[in-house]
Amino acid sequence: GPCSVESEEQVVAIAKAVKASGATMLRGGAFKPRTSPYAFQGLGETGLEYLKAARAETGLPIVTELMDVTHLPLFKDVDVIQIGARNMQNFDLLKAVGHQDKPVMIKRGMSATYEEWLMSAEYVMAGGGIRTFESYTRNTLDLAAIPVLRKLTHLPIIVDPSHATGKYWLGEPLAMGAVATGADGLQIEVHNDPAHALCDGPQSLKPEAFDPLAKKLLALHATIKGMEGQA
Ligand code: MN
Repeated sequence: GPCSVESEEQVVAIAKAVKASGATMLRGGAFKPRTSPYAFQGLGETGLEYLKAARAETGLPIVTELMDVTHLPLFKDVDVIQIGARNMQNFDLLKAVGHQDKPVMIKRGMSATYEEWLMSAEYVMAGGGIRTFESYTRNTLDLAAIPVLRKLTHLPIIVDPSHATGKYWLGEPLAMGAVATGADGLQIEVHNDPAHALCDGPQSLKPEAFDPLAKKLLALHATIKGMEGQA
């Protein structure tokens, strides 16, 4: 789904489109952690209501980020709680989500090692990129993390090629790479009008670009499963 929930029409339209392409969950930000205090901060509680409207329309479970322990009661109807990269070591927040029943997806902090990430993830996990010397991409997608984590943990591994690269056209090759190296799931930003997105437009795919990508990813996944079957 979109980086930020911007309106009910927007999130419902994107939800319908990605569901038709094979997406199994809808992720969008209502409470946004922004590097700049002057950037769009999200619709907050209203954004959560729009996500629920999209779920009611499509049946897709909703994933959204929790930034503040005091907001936890507002998240009681959310299906998966995301803990963002900037909060990966916010231990009070991690403990709070550990005391509730919903699945939790923890993004890797930009400077976190695998060990630190796993320490934070007594719960569940997801992966974006990490900060390196390379500045061409927004972050660096660490594909080696996937087989390493596969060895170290039983937890599901979800890869986010959108935030890892910051460029929509790198989403496809790196999503394919993530599937090939054993990711359990992908989180890909999709926006109906990326040029006018309030957040992360340059890394968002249009629904019409997401559709063939979803089909390719499912075909690649089936091929790999078939090869494992022969081995
Ligand atoms: Mn985003």
